[in-house]
Amino acid sequence: MGSWLSCSLLELSSVVLLAGGVQMDGLCRASDFLILPGFIDFIADEVDLTSALTRKITLKTPLISSPMDTVTEADMAIAMALMGGIGFIHHNCTPEFQANEVRKVKKFEQGFITDPVVLSPAHTVGDVLEAKLRHGFSGIPITETGTMGSKLVGIVTSRDIDFLAEKDHTTLLSEVMTPRIELVVAPSGVTLKEANEILQRSKKGKLPIVNDRDELVAIIARTDLKKNRDYPLASKDSHKQLLCGAAVGTREDDKYRLDLLTQAGADVIVLDSSQGNSVYQIAMVHYMKQKYPHLQVIGGNVVTAAQAKNLIDAGVDGLRVGMGCGSICITQEVMACGRPQGTAVYKVAEYARRFGVPVIADGGIQTVGHVVKALALGASTVMMGSLLAATTEAPGEYFFSDGVRLKKYRGMGSLDAMEKSSSSQKRYFSEGDKVKIAQGVSGSIQDKGSIQKFVPYLIAGIQHGCQDIGARSLSVLRSMMYSGELKFEKRTMSAQIEGGVHGLHSYEKRLY
Ligand code: GDP
Ligand code: GDP
Ligand code: 5GP
Repeated sequence: MGSWLSCSLLELSSVVLLAGGVQMDGLCRASDFLILPGFIDFIADEVDLTSALTRKITLKTPLISSPMDTVTEADMAIAMALMGGIGFIHHNCTPEFQANEVRKVKKFEQGFITDPVVLSPAHTVGDVLEAKLRHGFSGIPITETGTMGSKLVGIVTSRDIDFLAEKDHTTLLSEVMTPRIELVVAPSGVTLKEANEILQRSKKGKLPIVNDRDELVAIIARTDLKKNRDYPLASKDSHKQLLCGAAVGTREDDKYRLDLLTQAGADVIVLDSSQGNSVYQIAMVHYMKQKYPHLQVIGGNVVTAAQAKNLIDAGVDGLRVGMGCGSICITQEVMACGRPQGTAVYKVAEYARRFGVPVIADGGIQTVGHVVKALALGASTVMMGSLLAATTEAPGEYFFSDGVRLKKYRGMGSLDAMEKSSSSQKRYFSEGDKVKIAQGVSGSIQDKGSIQKFVPYLIAGIQHGCQDIGARSLSVLRSMMYSGELKFEKRTMSAQIEGGVHGLHSYEKRLY
């Protein structure tokens, strides 16, 4: 079977197919092979990780957080998008809760804020405090009528009201606001770059934008300039709002959820199903494409080209690949269905690329090396659950067990997750199922700190992997694989042992 031969993946997979199922299974999990090093003539920092999430959305970092209720709500999605990836808000919650999480992400950073909270001179200090409590900011432009499009008459910021006593909450804003005459404003039609320069010169916190009738059309916040400077890779839409994804199911009531998510500004929706090749998903893709033609839709999950074909024919803009390879998942054990993830990613990506549909490798990513392998097998991005769980940004509280600080991490098909709401039941169970068959487990993971440190480690790790391979970018990496230039080599069990730390009495593994 030539297990020590180096070969291109195409040769490797044909050898494997001829060799039959057992070797194939053994061969195509991430730990079963290595990539041979190439020639380095560039520094790791230069490696361009730009990659497509869907037909129309490109990310600067190929990293995605999974729509799981112990992984992605607004905090995770904001942090992922700031660092160049994207988060998908889970749907094991009410449609209203989910849409509100999307809204938090979309409002976190902006260029021109065209729908800011506005009040009138007749509102009170109490109204500003309430807005601060609800939305988190207190810089509020004041217009004649208290709405956008009406004449600008002033602005109220926290500095105007910070030192007021409780009894002053009924004070009218007309008494505390900075009046129009003292405001630095910019004319509508100004570019974001020019407006930023005015904001920097004026040293103010907000820059109102007005038309030639002095009516308010937008504001710009100084904090957003800083966020923009601190996160040069951030994934943003044309309004400079962070990109945000969300998951939905394929039931009739998911159409209502979809409406709320699109109103909240979701840029991309993933149809969350463990086996996506179904009449339900195909019908939902048709519905979404017809009702929201510009919305990007990711179908899945799939692991074969035949499954992928049906979803691509239906019109999906991306595919999520993986069945039974997740760390919390028992699908392969229980359902006898699934596929080793290396093979699944390679087979689906090789088919989908002919139609320009990018592939997400979803599940089973345990190390940064696995990310590099998934990308080298044709995936454009990787989706992570366990790797991001138990970070500061993951939902849920930390707790202690035997002195170790932990957070919960559970499969969305675990009985535990299903008890919370009905939406994860829909992913893993049929409506009429009398006996519930769990497809996931519930557990815990040790505190990992913030992803603000972890994701930069992943990014640098992928860049170093690509550098060793001799690929300056992820698109070069993929074309090296398809041309046969990239050499893969099988690892026997003993080679895997050799490749890990061995022979030490004790050691500490610090990754970054
Ligand atoms: P360019 O087209 O490469 O010049 O850059 P962009 O279109 O990304 O940004 C245009 C201008 O807006 C630059 O001055 C950026 O620094 C700035 N900018 C980008 N994102 C934001 C943001 O979220 N808020 C603000 N206020 N400015 C931003
Ligand atoms: P403030 O001084 O209390 O208003 O808060 P900052 O200016 O420090 O932060 C405001 C943040 O909230 C920025 O990132 C804005 O993009 C964002 N934001 C979203 N919607 C609004 C809005 O309607 N009004 C204001 N003032 N900020 C908003
Ligand atoms: P991980 O990164 O932890 O290895 O895998 C995360 C992925 O596992 C998710 O993105 C999702 O596709 C999958 N997954 C999440 N919950 C379950 C579950 O309960 N059962 C199964 N089979 N897969 C799950």
